Order: sequence, then C-alpha cells, then structure tokens
Amino acid sequence: MEFSDGTGPAAITDVLIVGSGPAGAAAALLLSTLDIPNIMITKYRWTANTPRAHITNQRAMEVFRDAGIEHQVLADATPHDLMGDTVFCTSIAGEEIGRILTRGTHPGRHGDYELASPCLPVDILQTYLEPILVRNATERGTQARFAYGVELGQFYESAAIVTDGSTRPAPTRDPELFYEPSTVPGARLPHVWVGDPRTRISTLDLAPMTRFTLLTGIAGESWVAAADKVAQELNVPLETVVIGPGRAVTDLYYDWARVREVEEDGAILVRPDKHIGWRSARLVADPYQALLGVLTKILGRGAA
Ligand SMILES: Cc1cc2nc3c(=O)[nH]c(=O)nc-3n(C[C@H](O)[C@H](O)[C@H](O)COP(=O)(O)OP(=O)(O)OC[C@H]3O[C@@H](n4cnc5c(N)ncnc54)[C@H](O)[C@@H]3O)c2cc1C
Repeated sequence: MEFSDGTGPAAITDVLIVGSGPAGAAAALLLSTLDIPNIMITKYRWTANTPRAHITNQRAMEVFRDAGIEHQVLADATPHDLMGDTVFCTSIAGEEIGRILTRGTHPGRHGDYELASPCLPVDILQTYLEPILVRNATERGTQARFAYGVELGQFYESAAIVTDGSTRPAPTRDPELFYEPSTVPGARLPHVWVGDPRTRISTLDLAPMTRFTLLTGIAGESWVAAADKVAQELNVPLETVVIGPGRAVTDLYYDWARVREVEEDGAILVRPDKHIGWRSARLVADPYQALLGVLTKILGRGAA
C-alpha cells in the first residue's frame, strides 16, 4: 500500500492504521510483533489526555501477556485486589445507597477468574495504557505519525478516482486545516448553496451516499440519458442533477458556476462519499462511452 498525505513523498507499507487509541495502538503493537510493516497515523499530537477506558479484562491482559508487555501494564495499573467496590450513591459527595463487590473481587467469583486465566483484570487508565502500547509498537517497528488527521482538506488518489489530466491545485493554506474548493478528481465536492427561491440546499445534499451523482448544466442535458443507460448497464445507482435556470435546482447565487471548474455542458461525477470520481470539462461526442469507461474503472470492474 502506498500512503501519502499529498504534501510529501509517499511511504510504502502493508498496513495503514488510523488512530492511536487502544484499538489502533494494540493493532500496531501486534503487527510489529509479527514483523508486518505498518504505519500508524493519528489526528492529535498526543495520546489520550483524559483517563476514559480503564477496567482491563482478562482477555485484554492475555493479549498484552502474549505481546510481552504484561509486566509494563501491571507496573502502571491498580492491581486486581485493590480494585474498589462499585458504589451507588445520590451524588459523588451524597448519600450512599449501597455497594457491591464487582470485577471479580467477590470471593465467590474470584476463583472463576483465577481458574480462567493466567492474568487477572487490572484497572489502568487509558492515559497510562496508550503510551505503553505506542512505545512498544514503535520500538518494534511501527512508524507512528502524530498530527496526521486531515481536518478539512481530504483528497484521494486511488484506482477509484479517474483523472481528467488535471492536477490538484497547489494549496494556498495548510491543506490539513483548510478546504479549498475544487472539482479536480479526488477532491471533495465543493459546498455552495443552490436550490430554489424557497428552499436552499447544499450541493453536498445533491449527492447522497446512496448513489453516484452526475452534475451538469442545461447545455449538458445529453449526459442524462447517457448516465441512465450506464446505470442500467452496470446496475449501479447513478442519477444526474441538472443545475440551471427553471430547473428544480438552480444556481441561486451563481456560486456553483464559480466553483465547478467545468463548462456548463461539462459533467462532474460524484462518488457516494461526496468525492469527485471524474469530471469532463465539456460535453463529449459519446457521453455514454465516456461514462461507462469511467465508472467501470472506478468500480474496478475492468479486465484484471
Ligand atoms: C469521557 C469518556 C469517558 C470514558 N470512560 C470509559 C470508562 O470508564 N470505561 C471504558 O471502558 N471506556 C470509557 N470510555 C470509552 C473509551 O475511551 C473508548 O471505548 C476507547 O477509547 C475506544 O478505543 P479506540 O481505540 O477504539 O478509539 P479511540 O480511543 O477513540 O481512538 C481513536 C483514535 O483515532 C484518532 N483519530 C480520530 N479521527 C481521526 C482522523 N480523522 N485521522 C486520524 N486519526 C484520527 C484519534 O486521535 C485517536 O487516536 C470513555 C470515553 C470517554 C470519551
């Protein structure tokens, strides 16, 4: 797998893990323990900064044991025999209604735990556990990249995007923090308000997740029949929205004309995830063949 954030050279890895929480960091640790190359990226510059998950059951401890980090977890955890009762009260400082021995601390239950596993449950705060997982994962080969979450400038390059020969416009601001509207294939469909004088809708509403959507203007009407035929041929939900005066969807503020980057008779194919799969600057001689070829590629249905 080739991984790139679009701003630097691509990295090659077998597995890309998104997130360094307990799930992501444990996955990274286990993959690296098995010598499977992996990169772990995460949104923030830190691991969990509040306690959150803490009760760690026997099965989880067995995983840590297998990975050879059980002793590290035990060193930072509250051990089983010190795990307190579960208290019911009207408020933290209020009247106590009752308490029970939980998490296997009741003598009648404790034996089951001892018999079931070499490990007992512990109480380790997420703030303590995540660094242990991340540290060991990286020591064993995981490449961890913090602050890799893209907040607004998501962009795809993949076999499910068909280029129109153009390149992504160079970002003028931090591409992880800012979205700069473009309909270049791979970009997210720009949001502008369209609709009719009574109802404003977003261009994003025109392309629901249940289908592919083709956007064109009145001069591009020929795309409609072509798209219908392709939808039938490939048995894929694909609908065309014609944006223009007198249509159900009008370009209320002419914002769409400003951001669409294709002529009025051109077309923009939007994937169900609202990213541009392909675009055509103008109406082409055979829109059916053009669309058929593009969707076949996006769906990976071409010859192997
Ligand atoms: C206030 C609070 C209290 C809680 N208390 C308890 C409790 O008492 N007991 C308990 O068992 N559980 C508790 N939980 C739940 C526990 O924290 C979660 O179940 C646990 O963190 C889930 O682990 P995870 O790895 O699946 O996801 P997370 O810990 O949520 O990790 C997600 C990771 O993905 C990263 N990420 C997210 N979006 C992106 C992106 N777009 N790009 C890149 N990276 C991204 C994040 O930075 C993070 O590293 C609590 C949660 C909260 C918020």
